[in-house]
Amino acid sequence: MATKQFQAESKRLLEMMINSIYSQKEIFLRELISNASDAIDKMYYKALTDDSLTFNKDDYYIKVSADKDNRTLKIEDTGIGMTEEELESNLGVIAKSGSLAFKNENEIKDGHDIIGQFGVGFYSAFMVADVVTVYTKSANSDQAYKWESNGADGYTIEPADKEKVGTEVFIKLRENTEDENYDEYLEEHRLNSIIKKYSDYIRYPIKMDVTVQKPKDDDEEETAEVKEEQTVNSMVPIWRKNKNELTTEDYEAFYSEKHYGFDKPLTHIHLSVDGAVRYQAILFIPENTPFDYYTKEYEKGLELYSNGVLIMEKCSDLLPDYFGFVKGIVDSEDLSLNISREMLQHDRQLKLIAKNIKNKIKSQLKTLLKDEREKYEKFYQSFGRQLKFGVHIDFGTHKDDLKDLLLFYSSKEKKLVTLSEYVSRMPEDQQYIYYAAGDSYDRIEKLPQTEMVLDKGYEILYFTEDIDEFAIKTLMSYDDKQFKSVASGDLGIESEEDQEKEEEEKKDNKELFEEIKNILSDKVKDVRASKRMKTHPVCLAADGEVSIEMEKILQQMPD
Ligand code: ADP
Ligand code: MG
Repeated sequence: MATKQFQAESKRLLEMMINSIYSQKEIFLRELISNASDAIDKMYYKALTDDSLTFNKDDYYIKVSADKDNRTLKIEDTGIGMTEEELESNLGVIAKSGSLAFKNENEIKDGHDIIGQFGVGFYSAFMVADVVTVYTKSANSDQAYKWESNGADGYTIEPADKEKVGTEVFIKLRENTEDENYDEYLEEHRLNSIIKKYSDYIRYPIKMDVTVQKPKDDDEEETAEVKEEQTVNSMVPIWRKNKNELTTEDYEAFYSEKHYGFDKPLTHIHLSVDGAVRYQAILFIPENTPFDYYTKEYEKGLELYSNGVLIMEKCSDLLPDYFGFVKGIVDSEDLSLNISREMLQHDRQLKLIAKNIKNKIKSQLKTLLKDEREKYEKFYQSFGRQLKFGVHIDFGTHKDDLKDLLLFYSSKEKKLVTLSEYVSRMPEDQQYIYYAAGDSYDRIEKLPQTEMVLDKGYEILYFTEDIDEFAIKTLMSYDDKQFKSVASGDLGIESEEDQEKEEEEKKDNKELFEEIKNILSDKVKDVRASKRMKTHPVCLAADGEVSIEMEKILQQMPD
């Protein structure tokens, strides 16, 4: 029997594949299981159009078994199988996807369950295999075939015996090396966890013979290890379920199952979008700040699935930095399983999803703010700083996205207020949004600079965090009202009369002020009379754009 060579391009592609497309070897199992799932799907579509066939869902499964003695792994399915021609064209030519062709031929418009379309996944088996052997019998042929390849030297196809329609893929694991131990792919626990990780939501049962402890017949005390066939995947992903069937507890259970946090989520968003891009998502807003949240170690991102199959554990492109606290998953049938990280970044669909998600999070937070103020304030205690950073590091649109989500302490009742609340209460003659910065609410309250503004009956925002004033500087104004520090030289509320008086007093006390200025020398720029205080004899005022508080922070920053 002659060994057929892969096409030249295929050979090169195969090497590339094995060495670079996939970052982790373990995903070979994901690829083979996805192919098995596709093959069962095809059986299902065939049954839909062929009256002589019935599709009894219970007859369809995928089974993974390990043979430690022979160091082989078997992935078996009861799918549609392959004819000799199909073996030749689907496994003999790399980057040829029988699944994509199937979708096109059958004009399956919503055939979005079928995962394959790139025609490279199968070859990922060679990342761990010395030899791959496929036994397959097509639903359209009485003859079964064996396909075998060691990767480099091409492949052979010959008739074989196989009774049941379907496919068995045997992987002869590579010899262990100093750096790589391939034996792990024979371990029950390892296989189990790989399946759970990537293929938990494959819609057909993935079976394994699992070791369990069973009481011995005669003696109830004593147990023995026996193998028992179990389904290891959960099959129906929670995000594919109808919102109405799910309770808060279901979402919370999913949250902790996924290890999104030790807390309970404050709120969740369950999306099923059927627009320009189709996707489902479950997003969570945690209640507490993760311990590493405001450090470089924290990695934002959502889990990304293509059709129930995990493609990336932390897809950072799906979230803007300022919503980096959001946890959850996105599953889209419009994304390909095989696309690499690099390609994902440029994926138009992914960008659409990201934009969509951003808007959903924004509106969910707005709703929370409007309807469940207490919850929102809890959220804000945890992540408000992040939102303010978002405004500060504005890339054109952030501030518009975020300005209505900001809260600041206010001189009114020691409460957190929104900018819109502040502006709506402004007396008609008030021109500016006033703020005062300091270490704490109580300290700000005692600042002499606040006296005149409060006396006017104006509200003041109390900036207790370093970032507050930076955020406001980027924002510049809200609702056409500019922000003004109570420490700035011109508060915009001094009457002409007051100003004249100030001038007069300045003249009258010129010598005194000069003397004070001399004594304080380089510490102050000017010494003036002021009308802004009632109970305090002196206060410091900033002259330019940068307030005293900001100057303090800027001075602390490393160069
Ligand atoms: P893709 O899944 O992207 O199409 P693969 O390299 O994973 O690419 O597989 C190539 C083709 O081989 C598939 O499209 C399918 O036609 C065929 N194939 C692979 N595995 C199976 C299987 N278990 N049963 C039937 N056909 C299969
Ligand atoms: Mg595939």
